[in-house]
Amino acid sequence: MDRKPFQLGDIVEMKKAHPCGTNAWKVIRMGMDIRMKCTGCGHSVLLPRSRFEKRMKKVLVQADPSATE
Ligand SMILES: [Zn+2]
Repeated sequence: MDRKPFQLGDIVEMKKAHPCGTNAWKVIRMGMDIRMKCTGCGHSVLLPRSRFEKRMKKVLVQADPSATE
């Protein structure tokens, strides 16, 4: 298994903040494409994995396995 720097449910920071002013995105779907949701306004975007990895700066909060959302 290859090691990934992020996982489903993580809150990540991107190189560019969302226009709403928030720069914290929750990873809500992983696959060929990554779907992430802005934690500020709830807007979600779908990005090809390669683009996501280029744009992601760091993981802010690692997924909490006990969280049910
Ligand atoms: Zn937003």
